[in-house]
Amino acid sequence: MKFNPEVYSIPDERMKPFIDPDEIWGYINSAKPTRERVREIIAKSLDKHRLNLEEVAVLVNTSEPELVEEILQGARTLKQKVYGNRIVLFAPLYIGNKCTNNCKYCGFRTSNTEAVRVTLSDEEITKEVEALEDNGQKRLILVYGEHPEYSADYIAHTVRLVYGVKKDRGEIRRVNINAAPLSVEDFLKVKKAGIGTYQIFQETYNPEAYSWYHQAGKKRDFEWRLTSLDRAQEAGLDDVGIGALMGLYDWRFEVLGLVRHTNHLEACYNVGPHTISFPRIKSASGLDITNQYFVSDDDFVKLVAILRLAVPYTGMILTAREPVHVRQKVLQFGVSQIDGGTKLELGAYIESKNEKQNLNREQFEIGDSRSLGEVVDDLVEHDYIPSFCTACYRLGRTGEHFMEFSVPGFIKRYCTPNAVLTLTEYLVDYATPEVKDKGYRLIDKTLTELDGNQNVEEIKRRMERIKAGERDLYF
Ligand code: SAM
Ligand code: SF4
Repeated sequence: MKFNPEVYSIPDERMKPFIDPDEIWGYINSAKPTRERVREIIAKSLDKHRLNLEEVAVLVNTSEPELVEEILQGARTLKQKVYGNRIVLFAPLYIGNKCTNNCKYCGFRTSNTEAVRVTLSDEEITKEVEALEDNGQKRLILVYGEHPEYSADYIAHTVRLVYGVKKDRGEIRRVNINAAPLSVEDFLKVKKAGIGTYQIFQETYNPEAYSWYHQAGKKRDFEWRLTSLDRAQEAGLDDVGIGALMGLYDWRFEVLGLVRHTNHLEACYNVGPHTISFPRIKSASGLDITNQYFVSDDDFVKLVAILRLAVPYTGMILTAREPVHVRQKVLQFGVSQIDGGTKLELGAYIESKNEKQNLNREQFEIGDSRSLGEVVDDLVEHDYIPSFCTACYRLGRTGEHFMEFSVPGFIKRYCTPNAVLTLTEYLVDYATPEVKDKGYRLIDKTLTELDGNQNVEEIKRRMERIKAGERDLYF
């Protein structure tokens, strides 16, 4: 789909940088959030049109409480109207924390001599994955420092290894990656291993701030990172995730940067990012930053709602960096994926090591240390359907968020039934009796709501087949 044409000071060209900080500040400094304009922009988004930079700038400048509440309400409505109440669950698996960069905000930075450096052996990876499968996980994101040891061949090897681990009824059906930027040739290698999304965060879209935080190693090169997902696209890897680390620079600038990046990918490749992430900085061992750009909880909620309205057909990821109360609040505004049962210490899934966090072995401190079971329980309690669905990517239905958003009936035909089926598997294989009860009640309610729109009888038949021992049934 074509977005609203905008004329940028740097035109969009494949593999070419596209961020002009003066332009982004120009939009922010000239945006006037009048009542009429803010309402017009919210209405445009609710009408299923993505927003341009000028419109996003108006929203980020809105501070009048009543109007901010309207922005939040707009995002809530959009989420309910378009996406319903599914939340996809995943877990991160840290493979290795050796790193040649020195990002001032990260516990893995090369100058942090306190950090205990670990790369999991194949055997350890296998054990970790088995432990994750024992908890009910089906989707993982593998995370790596930037280091010659973590080459594209090595990343591809670990991806294949993870897919091959099957324990009892457990298996990992989608492996995503968060690692350093690669060349086109190297992206091809990881694509061949069957990865889902390749995620790279720009950290900050402001080149000057970027230089200050990244003074050593390959990550110094702002443009190599900025164009990394272009190279992924050139390699045919069209499932990419973008993000900005909130707290490094003015969050309003980062929100416009994320939208500009989305526009660039759409203009050059006709497909926007699969997901957007907006992690907030957490305390880490050896952290070397000030809190000048710290993002408050209120601003964080606002920025999530604005992103939802700005790019209504992109998946949005909220991680366990955030504490439970913030996660619960932000879920309403359009988040589509969260991690559950997260442990960041390398090797921690096997040994339940994370009972007391040890910052020297972790990238940063997490805010939500609940088990996957507790997260599922909490979601069900609040009427969200936990989903472990991996159907679209395995059936080659790429651009699923866009289809969810734009194809009438897509969610009722595919997403909700698949959420119900994967939740049924989870309830049968891993849930406590109480969660089972609550889960089946939520499924009943969901099927009632689907009645008349979908072949509810077929979903029920498949649920029975799952209860009888079949696995991995999807539409
Ligand atoms: N090393 C690769 C890289 O830098 O792109 C990938 C892995 S890095 C471990 C994943 C992300 O964690 C980074 O892109 C950054 O946004 C985030 N991160 C780093 N330090 C953090 C901190 N103190 N709090 C929250 N997130 C952090
Ligand atoms: Fe290394 Fe990534 Fe941490 Fe930077 S953010 S120090 S590149 S692991």
